Amino acid sequence: MATPLSAAKLVSALKAEGVKVREYRSWRTHNRNHVGSWGPVHGVMIHHTVTSGTESSVDLCYDGHSTLPGPLCHGVIADGTVHLVGHGRANHAGSGDRDVLDAVIAERALPSDNQANTDGNRHFYGFEAINLGDNKDPWPPAQVEAIVRASAAICRAHGWGKQGTTSVIGHSEWQPGKVDPRGPGITMNAVRKRVAERLRHPADWSPGDTPEHPEEDDDMGRLIDAAMTRPLTIRDEGVWVSIPGDTIYGETAIAKGTYSFAGARERYRVEVDLHAIGLTPTGAIQLRVVEEDGRKLPIREIPGTAKGTYGGAGREGTAQSRPKLLLAWHDENAEQVVIERVEMHGQAWPT
Ligand SMILES: [Zn+2]
Repeated sequence: MATPLSAAKLVSALKAEGVKVREYRSWRTHNRNHVGSWGPVHGVMIHHTVTSGTESSVDLCYDGHSTLPGPLCHGVIADGTVHLVGHGRANHAGSGDRDVLDAVIAERALPSDNQANTDGNRHFYGFEAINLGDNKDPWPPAQVEAIVRASAAICRAHGWGKQGTTSVIGHSEWQPGKVDPRGPGITMNAVRKRVAERLRHPADWSPGDTPEHPEEDDDMGRLIDAAMTRPLTIRDEGVWVSIPGDTIYGETAIAKGTYSFAGARERYRVEVDLHAIGLTPTGAIQLRVVEEDGRKLPIREIPGTAKGTYGGAGREGTAQSRPKLLLAWHDENAEQVVIERVEMHGQAWPT
């Protein structure tokens, strides 16, 4: 359930995301609320105008035309600027596919749009991007960047995009027969990927700000230094177990009773050392990092040995939410495994 953003909130979200904003005429009170509902809102829809020329396109989207009264969207995107032309219900999305709306709400993969049974103007923010739409008119990078930032600003303000990337769709993905947006330089999949990437960073982030690997000599970051104070017995095979927060000494960060070795939006690099008893050489201990929001890193395995298993694994990544370490064991010849010690050493840097 998402209540539409107020005009003031929309402006501040766009500006925070680095979008240039122009407030056009009486956009704050210009809408179609007298003919239908506005909200709950669930996503952002991208269009192309089939026009050229900034002023005439912005005018058209504000006023509309004889058969389709304005506003024809909420913002017109030309180059790096969003020209706000309406706030409230706008004539941009028309009727589209309820199955698509359901997928947008659930943030799962979009089905193809083969029905026009649902009022889209009620549920979507709309941006019209100035482009001829002939599949030849190229999309300037600055314009696509503004589309990405404007979409991300709205997703961020609503908390969308946590489950998946489908909060931002093209008109062509909503209403059968529509083709927008299209042309050299834009695909909705690429826009969605870039929006998702933005949402992993603060609003003022620009691509290229984050180095792939930290400059260790220049920036020590925050030290991750923790170890368990008592053994952890895992009785059941194949069950993922987290490290309880109350068994950790050293630097601690607890999330819901579980030790988390880094905070949300931290880059981290951590070495895990463990000592376990109970495995045989036929078995293995698995390690994996899972974040609060469900994101999982690939599993690492440490083989079993008869006299107690020693091993380690390195992990690095950028946390979207607080990461924790999970352990599981697999061994057809073992009864239970006692994790005698887990130590984690590393560093974390703010993103
Ligand atoms: Zn459209």
